[in-house]
Amino acid sequence: MAFDNLSEKLQNVFKNLRGKGRLSEADVKAALKEVKMALLEADVNFKVVKNFIKSVEERAIGQDVMSSLTPGQMVIKIVNEEMVKLMGDQTTEIALKSGNEITVIMMCGLQGAGKTTTTAKIAGKLKSKGKKPLLVACDIYRPAAIKQLQVNGEKQGVNVFSMGDGHKPVNIAKAAIEHAAKNGFNVVILDTAGRLHIDEEMMEELIEIKTNVEIHQAILVVDAMTGQDAVNVSEMFNEKIGIDGVILTKLDGDTRGGAALSIRAVTGRPILYVGMGEKLSDLEQFYPDRMASRILG
Ligand code: GDP
Repeated sequence: MAFDNLSEKLQNVFKNLRGKGRLSEADVKAALKEVKMALLEADVNFKVVKNFIKSVEERAIGQDVMSSLTPGQMVIKIVNEEMVKLMGDQTTEIALKSGNEITVIMMCGLQGAGKTTTTAKIAGKLKSKGKKPLLVACDIYRPAAIKQLQVNGEKQGVNVFSMGDGHKPVNIAKAAIEHAAKNGFNVVILDTAGRLHIDEEMMEELIEIKTNVEIHQAILVVDAMTGQDAVNVSEMFNEKIGIDGVILTKLDGDTRGGAALSIRAVTGRPILYVGMGEKLSDLEQFYPDRMASRILG
């Protein structure tokens, strides 16, 4: 599971802090240095770590903390609070229109990130909330992707709209929205094409969809196991096309956890869900406070 190493290291630091009756400024600084090392080893973005430690230090080295009866405990509490803040404080839901008004969601990401799987996972979540989702196959470059979406859609009991590979994605999206309006679907989820790397063509295609179709939510899917690459990809997508939120997949296989801790701070965009396995039910809402508790033990 993610964060094992980080958790263990932080717990050791905290054990030392708790053991001390009084804390000097040097004690706090030494402890925070260890926290810093642990975060860097967990592949958290360097700037994020720097700012995080600064915020904790500003709050921890103060009269209130140092003169309290349990200063160690108070420092730990501050680390916890700052970590929750780092991940966005609150849980962010995918913003949906009410009633029968159609919400159009554009899913994007690099190939292999888990986009198609996640698209089907999300459809399942929305269906269980009483929505009527329609999945749309906009990846015209890989016939296997269309098939995969159809298979997963069927597993979820969700309809899949496809026009094969002979139309432009933007036109498929438009046709899908018309189809949804005529047939009572109220969430349209576009599964767009992924590439191995970010390239102009990919971005152009997404921009073309976004400028010609009213997209209510652009959601980026990134692979937690790629660490800082996932963060860079998020930053790039946000700059080029503007994203509303991120879904972090494969957290079940990520031993470090750096992406989960960095994405919000680097991009300003929230993590909405985390993928915890290959099964279509393995998608969890992202709770910054629970994630911090998981990390801090
Ligand atoms: P796409 O190319 O981005 O559409 O990626 P896919 O949806 O085809 O997923 C690529 C691989 O990642 C597949 O084998 C998925 O089963 C796997 N996958 C997706 N999400 C997760 C996850 O949260 N955890 C794990 N362990 N595997 C995942």
